[in-house]
Amino acid sequence: MIYLDHNATTQTRPEAIDLVTNIMAQVGNGSSTHCAGRAASMHIERAREQIAKAINTRPAQVIFTSCATESINTILKTFKGERILASGIEHAAIVDCGNAELEIIPVTSDGIIDLDTMEAMLERAPTALVNIMYVNNETGVIQPIKEAIEIAHKYGALIHIDAVQALGKIPVDFKDSGADYMSFSAHKVGGPQGVGCFAFAAKKPIRPLMIGGKQEKNQRAGTSNVAGIAGMGLAVEIAVENINRYDELATWRDDIENRLTKSLPGITINGKNTPRVGNTISLTCAKITNTIQIMNLDLDKICVSGGSACSSGVAKPSHVLTAMGLTDDDALSTIRISMGWNTTQDDVNQFIEKYTKIIERLNK
Ligand code: PLP
Repeated sequence: MIYLDHNATTQTRPEAIDLVTNIMAQVGNGSSTHCAGRAASMHIERAREQIAKAINTRPAQVIFTSCATESINTILKTFKGERILASGIEHAAIVDCGNAELEIIPVTSDGIIDLDTMEAMLERAPTALVNIMYVNNETGVIQPIKEAIEIAHKYGALIHIDAVQALGKIPVDFKDSGADYMSFSAHKVGGPQGVGCFAFAAKKPIRPLMIGGKQEKNQRAGTSNVAGIAGMGLAVEIAVENINRYDELATWRDDIENRLTKSLPGITINGKNTPRVGNTISLTCAKITNTIQIMNLDLDKICVSGGSACSSGVAKPSHVLTAMGLTDDDALSTIRISMGWNTTQDDVNQFIEKYTKIIERLNK
């Protein structure tokens, strides 16, 4: 199998698998005061320190959750009933969170947030929260978050950055960015599925989504997923130590894009002329639906996706691509190729060779 869908979920790092399985063999609730509980709590606090160090914040500002969706929902629900802005390329966790107050900030054809319009929207009426996705999951486009944060703060709004696809791919600095909240997910960086966290700057108390025990300083009730949290901490540490890997992936990305656009008709790359992370390609192959492309690649045991994984299975044009000005037809003819920490040069070569053959055959 050639797995090129790392933005959906990436291979768990072997070091994280070892740690998670070792901890799962132990007993202990992180909230218990006896020695088993203290051992569990030690794993959680170590992970909190690893993540805080990786994103440059204090451990006390990191709250563990079950996934980034939960992190995002917690933050958005904290602002329920208040005016919220979000870019037009946000994840469903934001768009479909049920906030009727959500207003959409447009993006340019390159997939970059339109900062002038954002400022005009902020000028128009008081705003509680702005949401920006740091790196887009479908295109890999990197947003100018520092500028966006400055503008939001100029108008008294707080700002949440969905940094799920940024962590481990580009440097993420919570403190220096000035963001008020950032969300993260373990399984996008080589940790286990079902764990996430958010970082917060203490400007407004969080309204917890989960009500019950006093875990996570009363901000997220429920017995902590000790093994998963420990796996996330270690995976984040390793991913950040190996961040240069994305420079190599960027050369392979360019190679794929150059070779395919030269050899095949009707290929366009979305967000090509703008800063992007090294691992992601959003490729439109005009007049061939992504369902057909994905099925044919799958027959060759190559895994890619169309749009975001969360909406695959549903033939709906991606809102990210249509926000960038693609027609519905072009959006439905777009696949996402996303490499990861264990992608090899051979995977890349085989993908180029097999994809070329498939498209040539379908074009006949
Ligand atoms: N935000 C972005 C940018 C994502 O790519 C994803 C996952 O697809 C999420 C949020 C949700 O993450 P999780 O799977 O941890 O809920």
